[in-house]
Amino acid sequence: MLASGDTISVNVDIDAIRFYYGIHGLTNCTSPESDPVWNFGVPRFLKLFAELGMSATFFVVASDLVSMSDGGAVQDLTEVKRRRQLVRSMVAQGHEVASHSFGHSYALSRKSFQDINADLQRAVDILYEVTGVPIIGFRAPGYNLSPSLIDAIEKSGAIYSSSRLPSPPYFVAKWLVMLKGALIGQPSRSIIGEIASPFLSRRPYRHREGLLELPMSVIPLLRLPAIGTFFTLYGDRGIDWLLPHLKQENWLNLEFHAIDLVDRSDAGVTQNLVSRQPDLSTSMTQKQSLFTNWLLELAQGRSNQTLKEVANNIDRSSYHLSKF
Ligand SMILES: [Zn+2]
Repeated sequence: MLASGDTISVNVDIDAIRFYYGIHGLTNCTSPESDPVWNFGVPRFLKLFAELGMSATFFVVASDLVSMSDGGAVQDLTEVKRRRQLVRSMVAQGHEVASHSFGHSYALSRKSFQDINADLQRAVDILYEVTGVPIIGFRAPGYNLSPSLIDAIEKSGAIYSSSRLPSPPYFVAKWLVMLKGALIGQPSRSIIGEIASPFLSRRPYRHREGLLELPMSVIPLLRLPAIGTFFTLYGDRGIDWLLPHLKQENWLNLEFHAIDLVDRSDAGVTQNLVSRQPDLSTSMTQKQSLFTNWLLELAQGRSNQTLKEVANNIDRSSYHLSKF
């Protein structure tokens, strides 16, 4: 049963196309300027949320907003300006911009506190410079946290992390893909991470260090992932069989990736990536219609809040949170 205060939060990780080539151990032939994630995925999500009247949280990798000459990921200054404008338009449309780190290193959680701190501080400085709004949310690359990373997140001024996907089936699938890549000599740049994290709480909690964690939703049935890429893979059957289970959840925090609204017909998507990333074969319009169905159905009877709003409300209330 839904309670009157139940919310739905939606968020989008803007992981540039180069990270997908990296995960699959492939050589990236796409220039930063022709990145389909930034060129197509991000504007399509903004349009989808405008049509649905929803506010979301965008987790931005700050090096995507910085030129290579300044240590960032983008060669062309015009492209830097264009992306910064796009990020500003998120805030103007009522969305939250949060940090997905500066460099999006999958091994960030294993680095020294000093290195992590430098990465996170740089990210919030850039995102603040671009948006003019203090950045108070963080999502770890690859869903991996560590005590040093949690300390650095708090030190960067964040009041929440939304980094945990408590889904054992997701991690088993990920580890199998990594194992397959290693066996055929194309090792993934992703890392195994914390073995226990898939089994942790599905509801908000505080880390031992005090930082608020807003986990991503999973479907109660087997804790299947309730994230955009899987909505695509579940297809129409997901709407019939899985959505009713997810609808029962009081806590809803749905994660998408900007690549979820990119397909094989978009410039910058190569055949070898499509063969590794099967959701790219589903057309953008079909994915758009699936996402619309999931979101409209799940939003019924709930208030739509950005993660920042959720975190502020939890902080103000006497909401009892367990510690893990
Ligand atoms: Zn990411």
